[in-house]
Amino acid sequence: MPLLDNPVGVEDLILLEPLTQESLLKNLQLRFESKEIYTYIGSVVVSVNPYQQLPIYGPEFINKYRDCTFFELKPHIYALANVAYQSLRDQDRDQCILITGESGAGKTEASKLVMSYVAAVCGKGEQVNSVKEQLLQSNPVLEAFGNAKTIRNNNSSRFGKYMDIEFDFKGVPLGGVVTNYLLEKSRVVKQLKGERNFHIFHQLLAGADTQLLKALKLERDPSSYAYLNADVSEVGGMDDASNFRTVQNAMAVIGFSEEEIRQVLEVTALVLKLGNVELASEFQANGVSASGIREGPGIQEIGELVGLNSKELERALCARTMETAKEKVVTALNVIQAQYARDALAKNIYNRLFNWIVNRINESIKVGTGEKKKVMGVLDIYGFEILQDNSFEQFVINYCNEKLQQVFIEITLKEEQEEYAREGIPWRKVDYFDNGIICNLIEHNQRGILAMLDEECLRPGVVSDSTFLAKLNQLFSKHDHYESKVTQNAQRQYDHTMGLSCFRISHYAGKVTYNVASFIDKNNDLLFRDLSQVMWKAQHTLLRSLFPEGDPKQASLKRPPTAGAQFKSSVAILMKNLYAKNPNYIRCIKPNENQQRGQFSWELVATQSQYLGLLENVRVRRAGYAYRQVYGLFLERYRMLSRSTWPSWKEGDRAGVKKVLEDLAVASEEVAFGKTKIFIRSPRTLFFLEEQRRLK
Ligand code: ATP
Ligand code: MG
Repeated sequence: MPLLDNPVGVEDLILLEPLTQESLLKNLQLRFESKEIYTYIGSVVVSVNPYQQLPIYGPEFINKYRDCTFFELKPHIYALANVAYQSLRDQDRDQCILITGESGAGKTEASKLVMSYVAAVCGKGEQVNSVKEQLLQSNPVLEAFGNAKTIRNNNSSRFGKYMDIEFDFKGVPLGGVVTNYLLEKSRVVKQLKGERNFHIFHQLLAGADTQLLKALKLERDPSSYAYLNADVSEVGGMDDASNFRTVQNAMAVIGFSEEEIRQVLEVTALVLKLGNVELASEFQANGVSASGIREGPGIQEIGELVGLNSKELERALCARTMETAKEKVVTALNVIQAQYARDALAKNIYNRLFNWIVNRINESIKVGTGEKKKVMGVLDIYGFEILQDNSFEQFVINYCNEKLQQVFIEITLKEEQEEYAREGIPWRKVDYFDNGIICNLIEHNQRGILAMLDEECLRPGVVSDSTFLAKLNQLFSKHDHYESKVTQNAQRQYDHTMGLSCFRISHYAGKVTYNVASFIDKNNDLLFRDLSQVMWKAQHTLLRSLFPEGDPKQASLKRPPTAGAQFKSSVAILMKNLYAKNPNYIRCIKPNENQQRGQFSWELVATQSQYLGLLENVRVRRAGYAYRQVYGLFLERYRMLSRSTWPSWKEGDRAGVKKVLEDLAVASEEVAFGKTKIFIRSPRTLFFLEEQRRLK
C-alpha cells in the first residue's frame, strides 16, 4: 500500500489508495507528525495548525515558491498564493481565496500568509509600498477591535472578513475593500469564564500612558470594569501594551487622523464606562417599582467624556417612550429592563464603532472607480459550528457555510466539466450531495426559515420564540432536513436529546440542534429610540455619526432590516462576488483542543474533516479522472520507462505518451487522451508508473 510505503504520507490526497476516512486521517496524521502541515487535494490546500513556528516562511521560501509551478515543491500556502496571483496577473482572471475551518484552525494566520506572499511578489516602488503597508496594517487594527481570547483560541476573530485586494493590469496593487460579517457583539457585555472581551479594551488599559488614561477617565486596573473578566486580564505570549502601540501606529499608517484615533478611543472608553453604570430599584410616587442610576461619578464622567447630557442618558436608560401617531407614552423600566437597555446600548455602540472603523479603513484604501481592476478576494470566515447550545448566531454561520459548500461543489464540478469539454473528453456524471435543498429551507424568500423569522418579528400581536417555532413546525413537518420534537412525535420517533424549544437541521456537514430562545430578539436587534436620540445629541462627531436615526428630523418610523435579512443579503453579495472569481481553497484543521504543538487528536480531526467535507472533496475531484497532465511534462517524467521513447523520441509528445502507456500495458479504459493532456482514471495507475520509475 503506497500510504504505508511513504513515512510522510502522500502529498496529494487524490493519490490515496484505498480512499477511506481512515486512510485520509492517517495520512494527515503521518504528515503532521513529520511537521508537514500542508497537504493537497488537487489544488486545494489542507492545513493542520502546527501550534509552533516552523521554518518554512519568510523571504527565502517566498522566493522559492514564486519561481515554481504548483506541484514542483512541497505543498504550501505560498504555492496556492503563487498560482492565484500569477493567474490574476497573466491570465486576467480574478481570484478568490476561501479559507475555512473552525475556531483556532489557523484561518487568520493563513490569510496573513497569503497577504504577505502577495505583497512580497507584486510590484515595487515607494508608492506601491505605501499601498501594501496600508493593506497589511489593516490587520492589527481589525484584530484589536474584532478579536478576543476565547477558550479555543487566544486570538480568535469574532467577525467574518472578506478582503478584496485590487491590482492594475500589470498586477501592481492599488488598494482594496474590506467587508465584515456579524461581529459577536454579545462579547462586549459578557464573556464566558476564561475568555476576554475584545483585545482593544485590554490593550488600552495596559498601553495608554497616564495622561491618556486620565483624559479618557479610565482606571488602569481591568478589575475596575464590570465588562471585563478580571481573572483573565492577561494572555500568555500576548503583550497588550506593546500591541496598543502597534494598533495606534497602524491606524496612523492607514490614514486615521490624530483626532479620529482619539475619538475612537473615547468611544471605546465610553463602552467600558457604561458597563459600570449601576442600576437600582427606586419606588415611584405611585408605588410602582422602577429603576434609577445608583449615585456615583460614572454617569457624569460619561457625559463629560463624549459631551452628552447625563440626566438625559439616565432618563433614556430607565424609561421607554412609545410613540404612536397621536401621542407619546413614557413607561418606566424595571431594573432588569434598564440593565438590558444599558447592555444593548453598549453592544450597539461597539458594533457600530467596529463598522465605522472598517468603513474608515476602506476610505483610505479604496481605489477610484474609473480604473479597470483585477481583484483577489481573501475570505477568512467562521467555519461550520456545532456547540453545546446553538443559537441564532450558529444558525446564520452555518447557513453561510452551507452556501460556501454550494459554491464549492458547483464550481468544482463545473470546472471539471469545462476542462473535459475543452479537452474533448466525454463527461461522466458524478454523484454528489446537492445541498440546494438545505439552502432553500433557510433562505427561500417566502417560505424559508429566515423569512418565517422576519414575518414573526414584524407581525403585530403577541409573538415569541415559541410562536416562531410553531410556525416552522407547521410548515416544515414533512421536510427531509427539518426535525423538531413536534414533527418527531407526529412520526412516533422519540429523541430525548432534543428539547421542546429546539429545531434541528440536517446540514451537509451534520445535524445541528438550534434552540429558538432569543431568535426573535436577536433578529429584531432593536435599540430603544430614546437611546439613539441621546447618542445623536452628543457633542462628539464620531459617536453622533454612529446614530443617524437618533436625529429627530429623520424620524421616519421605518424599521431597519432585521439581523437575519441583513446577513442574508450580505451572504448573497458575497456569493455573487465569489461566483465571478476563480476560487482557491484553504481548508484549516485544528489538531487538538489545547493549543499544543505535536498533539494530534484523531477524533477531533475526524469531526473537522467531516465538516469540511474533505472526503467528498477528494471523491468529487477524482470522480472522473484522478490525474491529468500536459503531454510534454508527462512524457518528460515517464519516457525512461519505455525502450521506444528512451533515450530519444522524435514523434511528438502525445504519440510518445501513448507509446509509453502501451509498452507498460496500461489498460486502455484507464486513460483518456485529451487535446493537450493525458487523463488517468485511478491513482493506482499513477502509483504503478511511479513504482516503475523507482525500480529503474
Ligand atoms: P478563529 O476562528 O478563532 O479566528 P482561526 O482559524 O483564525 O480561529 P488563527 O487565529 O489563525 O485561527 O490561529 C490560532 C493560533 O494558532 C495562532 O494564533 C497561532 O498561534 C497558531 N497558528 C495558526 N497557524 C499557524 C501556523 N501556520 N504556524 C504557526 N502557528 C500557527
Ligand atoms: Mg481568525
